[in-house]
Amino acid sequence: MAILVMKFGGASVGTTTALTQVLSIVLQEHERWDHLLLVVSALDGVTDALIEAAQLAQLSNRRGYRRIVATLRTRHMALVEQLPLGINERHALQADIDRLLFDMLGVCQDLASHTLDRPVTAAFDEIIGVGERLSARIVATLLRQNQLRGVAIDATDIIVTDAEYGHARPHINLTRERIRQNLIPMLTRAIVPVVTGFIGATETGRPTTLGRGGSDYTASILAVCADAKEVWMWTDVDGLMTADPQEVPSARNIPELSYDEVAELAYFGARILHARMIGPLRDHQIVLRIKNIFKPRDTGTLVHAISPDDPNTIKAATSIQGISLTARYSGPLMQINSLIDQALQSATNSRTEVMITSQSSTQTFVCFIIPTTIGPEALRATQADLLRCLQEAGLHDIWAISPVSVITMVGSHLGYMNRHITSALQALDQIEILALAEGPSRHKLSVVVDFADGEDALNHIHDVILNSD
Ligand code: ASP
Ligand code: MG
Repeated sequence: MAILVMKFGGASVGTTTALTQVLSIVLQEHERWDHLLLVVSALDGVTDALIEAAQLAQLSNRRGYRRIVATLRTRHMALVEQLPLGINERHALQADIDRLLFDMLGVCQDLASHTLDRPVTAAFDEIIGVGERLSARIVATLLRQNQLRGVAIDATDIIVTDAEYGHARPHINLTRERIRQNLIPMLTRAIVPVVTGFIGATETGRPTTLGRGGSDYTASILAVCADAKEVWMWTDVDGLMTADPQEVPSARNIPELSYDEVAELAYFGARILHARMIGPLRDHQIVLRIKNIFKPRDTGTLVHAISPDDPNTIKAATSIQGISLTARYSGPLMQINSLIDQALQSATNSRTEVMITSQSSTQTFVCFIIPTTIGPEALRATQADLLRCLQEAGLHDIWAISPVSVITMVGSHLGYMNRHITSALQALDQIEILALAEGPSRHKLSVVVDFADGEDALNHIHDVILNSD
């Protein structure tokens, strides 16, 4: 039985125009595949608003979070009003939306009055996962109005995770068992499950979230556990691009990539995919396609196992923010790594990704990246915290902190001597390179430059990509 998993992102479910596209895509693929499994994100911007509501609740700002919940209610109700639904279905859906928001408001209230019987982080995950529960119900209702047996499924019932609230990891075996028991029988009854992305629950049933952008990860977990043949990620852009088109207007679509290349791209800043989703697909050789909902006939980007004699060109370049620490003389790096860890933990609640370290007799250099998913404020906050940690440890006279850009070139079998890499480095002639790092997989080379040089460096390297074929 051939199963296709399709994930629809926030922009694909946020407007009636996009939802109409979603419907026509689902109707079409329903004809072609034995079974469909759908995963949906919250409507665009909803998770951000929910996080803000949870933060205001924690500060006991009742007026603040109530205002946000009211705005979210209006937005979802307006969308439901515009959809072509029968009167009974519409009322049932509106009642569902009200109930979910009412329960969520209850959690905010407990948080605000400090009457929680569980960790604050657990309450946060209950609040911020509501966006997906709302959108899954909207999409399932729309399918039912169009002769498909759409059923909204809360992933809290099927994705079992650890209790690391905010960035939980799935227990694959337990999840596979739940899917076998609860989801597969639905497929055989011709139901099209619409599963909430982003969320799961602990073994005891406490809701968790998989990290920002986690709906992608949900799609890949479901695909692996249900033995799906392919995963299609629907977005509002033309697939993966040679660079972020917001930074490099001449960026163009990449038709084909290997799993390893995509894993590097996702990790080093291509915002379109969750970094952890690729590994499971690669291990099970499940084909991944990234497609634009407004151009369903276009092939988008195909990700699969590419033959070893694929030409070794640079296929894409990304830019990600980082922070570097430079010392005037070498010393043990151990202490500095744990300081970085502390600073990142307190500023961004995420773990260290020290990516480049180098020591010489005159200078020591450490550089780590700030995951793009944790927001624009993260760089400033981490820098301030790091400075505080260095001062407390009496090391601020030795180490200088500065923001850097890490430009990463991705392609199969890249090595230092590759002629494309040589041209790329030549193109950076006027820019000071602070450090270089090659990945162990030889699928990427990262160049660290001063933050102010980042945009130029990215554009120069991108020109090399455009001229390399
Ligand atoms: N809605 C969640 C987020 O904004 C998950 C996702 O969109 O993938 O992070
Ligand atoms: Mg996303």
